[in-house]
Amino acid sequence: MTVVDARPESLAAAALTAVPRDLFIGGRWVAAEGGRTFPVLDPATGEVLAEVADASPADGLAALTAAAAAQEAWAQTPARVRSTLLRDAFDLVQQRRHELAAIMTAEMGKPLAEARGEVAYGGEFLRWFADEAVRISGRYGANPEGTGRMIVTHRPVGPALLITPWNFPLAMATRKIAPALAAGCTVVLKPAEATPLTALYFARLLEEIGLPAGVVNVVPTLSAGAVCAPLIADRRLRKLSFTGSTGVGRTLLRQAADNVLRTSMELGGNAPFLVFEDADLDAAVDGAMLAKFRNGGQACTAANRFLVHEAVAAEFTARLTDRVRALRVGPGDADGTDVGPLIDDRAVAKVEALVADAVAHGAEVAVGGARGDGPGTFWQPTVLTNVAPGSRILSEEVFGPVAAITTFASEDEAVSRANDTEFGLAAYAYTRDLARAQRLLERLETGMLGVNAGIVSNAAAPFGGIKQSGLGREGGVEGIAEYLDTSYALTADPAA
Ligand code: NAP
Repeated sequence: MTVVDARPESLAAAALTAVPRDLFIGGRWVAAEGGRTFPVLDPATGEVLAEVADASPADGLAALTAAAAAQEAWAQTPARVRSTLLRDAFDLVQQRRHELAAIMTAEMGKPLAEARGEVAYGGEFLRWFADEAVRISGRYGANPEGTGRMIVTHRPVGPALLITPWNFPLAMATRKIAPALAAGCTVVLKPAEATPLTALYFARLLEEIGLPAGVVNVVPTLSAGAVCAPLIADRRLRKLSFTGSTGVGRTLLRQAADNVLRTSMELGGNAPFLVFEDADLDAAVDGAMLAKFRNGGQACTAANRFLVHEAVAAEFTARLTDRVRALRVGPGDADGTDVGPLIDDRAVAKVEALVADAVAHGAEVAVGGARGDGPGTFWQPTVLTNVAPGSRILSEEVFGPVAAITTFASEDEAVSRANDTEFGLAAYAYTRDLARAQRLLERLETGMLGVNAGIVSNAAAPFGGIKQSGLGREGGVEGIAEYLDTSYALTADPAA
């Protein structure tokens, strides 16, 4: 591992001046109640990037009032108009991709190249759902008895609360906002407290394209629970879409039960990465680098457990270790950085505890295994071998650049160990055997499977998990259904 310490003139400085610092409610930028603000930090240095309005529960309710007031007109806005606005948003995101990437890197820490990748990925949801907006349709047919006609239609579910995490500050927002708007729902977005700047800048872009007031409202806050709970209990809210940890997801599901809200839950993962004895090892190592070290391992789909056939384990481990040793750690905006800082001290402490626990259970550190240098929250990219059953790192999301390697002897063992988790978000498998790949698709308990592929995310695909990784899907043709209700009418037989 080499540490990048030179930091070029900050690209972010110019972009950050364009970020609004207030709440976006009803089409206006407003200060928080009492003028309260909170600081947004650069995880690479610990420095304050900006002070942002800190919404109170009353501010949150004002945002819901604005969303509710805009709901009917937005639902009745022709789908083609909603579609065109989303397409305009896509175009403007492309135009401002450098600013968006710089803001994201500044507040979240990911390398600029990855931030640009997220702008491309996040932008795609706007384009995809611009197309889906005009394809909402129903059906018409005779009932089986032939005594009437059944008309099935879909309509927007209503105002939605969208709660997003910090690890993909743009894409997690567009993955929710785009299908909601396409379906005809208005929204209140509560971004993560660590990364509100990207969301506020994106709201500015929506304002620029002329999105009607109140359709999208953005309320950063330090008091997520206190601001969101009254909205979730409010009868005007009809939908809750959350991306974040399974623990918070459970709490929100309990709260949503009282209001019988439609919910989408994109929760935590514990992805297995399987390497079979017939795998193309070059491809497997390339895939492992993506699945594990992209975003510093801070992805819900990140490979959390490497299960490698014992016949190829030594070779795979040696090649992976060489690649990991060459990774350059540094501020996201410094030239040549491959891995940026973790989001905060708590994240570093968690990684440190999981690595220490694995080592205490007998794991060996092939590379890395310690905090990085400097004032920021860095962790050295790490490979652990011989990770023993019962180590916490095999059952908890590490959410950092640590590859924990174990071995297996048979396909049955690999499948049963891969499934031995309450999570079921993503899995990866490297094999040249097509029949095996098909068996894995049927046997692995996962919402998404990468077959000889280290990334599964795509705006055109249904992203989501099974088991305790969540409910519902984002993206694909499935994504818009999360924001639509189904209504049905029976008419008398017109010929009778
Ligand atoms: P988190 O702590 O659950 O927070 C996620 C969001 O929920 C943040 O905006 C947070 O606000 C908010 N929040 C926290 N407590 C809340 C409450 N009581 N009521 C309402 N909102 C509340 O998760 P995170 O640490 O930001 O993100 C990492 C987790 O997200 C990992 O488990 C990862 O796997 C998961 N994730 C899942 C997906 C997916 O698609 N399945 C994608 C990305 C991430 P604050 O920021 O103010 O705490």
